[in-house]
Amino acid sequence: MFSESEKKKFEQIETPFYYYNLEILEKTLKTISQISQKYNFKVHYALKANSNLKILKIIESYGLGADCVSGNEVLRALESGFSSNKIAFAGVGKTDSEIKIGLNANIFSFNCESIPEILIINEIAEKQRKKAPIAVRINPNVDSKTHKHITTGLNENKFGINIEDLPNLVEVIKSLKNIDFVGIHFHIGSQITDLSVFKDLSLKVNEIQSYFAEQNIDIQHVNLGGGLGISYENPDEDSTSRFEEYFKIFSENLKLKSYQTAHFELGRSIVAQSGSLISRVLYNKKSTTKNFLILDAGMNDLIRPALYQAYHKIENLNVRAMTCLYDVVGPVCESSDVFVKDYALGEAQRGDLIAIRSAGAYGEVMASNYNLKALAQAYYSNELK
Ligand SMILES: *Cc1c(COP(=O)(O)O)cnc(C)c1O
Repeated sequence: MFSESEKKKFEQIETPFYYYNLEILEKTLKTISQISQKYNFKVHYALKANSNLKILKIIESYGLGADCVSGNEVLRALESGFSSNKIAFAGVGKTDSEIKIGLNANIFSFNCESIPEILIINEIAEKQRKKAPIAVRINPNVDSKTHKHITTGLNENKFGINIEDLPNLVEVIKSLKNIDFVGIHFHIGSQITDLSVFKDLSLKVNEIQSYFAEQNIDIQHVNLGGGLGISYENPDEDSTSRFEEYFKIFSENLKLKSYQTAHFELGRSIVAQSGSLISRVLYNKKSTTKNFLILDAGMNDLIRPALYQAYHKIENLNVRAMTCLYDVVGPVCESSDVFVKDYALGEAQRGDLIAIRSAGAYGEVMASNYNLKALAQAYYSNELK
């Protein structure tokens, strides 16, 4: 929902652009910090969802840590003020120079995804006469019941070390001198809306914890990853994700020792609802069977619909009486450059402002210059006043 004054400001800005409502962001952050403190859970923000400096600084101000998946994200987190001892660094393919960035910064943990990676981190740390804190990402083989392109916790996925390989892992870890094994890490997928899978995950983690206890290996922290879904259907009515329910499931099912802390890495559920992609109608084209609404924003600005058939709510910000069924499409020369098909919208006219909602996560960060289109700029609610 946009106020009249927001709409007036939008009229003066060149489209397409990303618009971030910081009140929604802060409301979400307040909720998260209250609930996580109650359970004594540590939340890291997954930078890959949105790494704009302004947004990062606000998130940091609520005391969250950072979850990074590249060396540049580690540098961006530091630049935004996140303290290095709250930075986790994940990713299946860390390069040597990215590992060095993490070591130089003395980050909280490297979330390692394979035995060869652990060997390399040990080698680089040895040259620097350091001990690298590592958590091992374990693939729990838990089905997150989300879209197959954002499922990450099944044996067939490239992420993490399979449970069958744990004996091997334990042997390797015991033999290495320049790593400090501090945690275990899980991340089973994204946009998860069936929260019962987090109970499945908790029970699996308990089993894995018992295995390490039998091997006399102490684990200081358990990182449960992220993945909490948002409502793409009702961004106004359900603007905050089900954080209470989410954290409660872990608090009721996860068995932690008194000295262990639970960490989370949330991305989408923190930033998605604060952002919209604002564009204009270029053309209204009727073909034999379809009405195409051609926007000046395309898959180069927001690739989620083309990449994984994601749904985003679309609104015409100009009030139009009649409704019409449209295929809302972008200008890019690809048949997949479609935001939504057969979608009911007020009858649109050239120049109407169109908002594509819930675009604060995995929107601007995935934008490209494809077709040599310029990157959409970002605007923030506190600057439009
Ligand atoms: C992407 C990612 C996250 C965040 O996922 P969301 O679904 O955005 O909450 C957390 N941890 C890891 C390792 C990731 O790759």
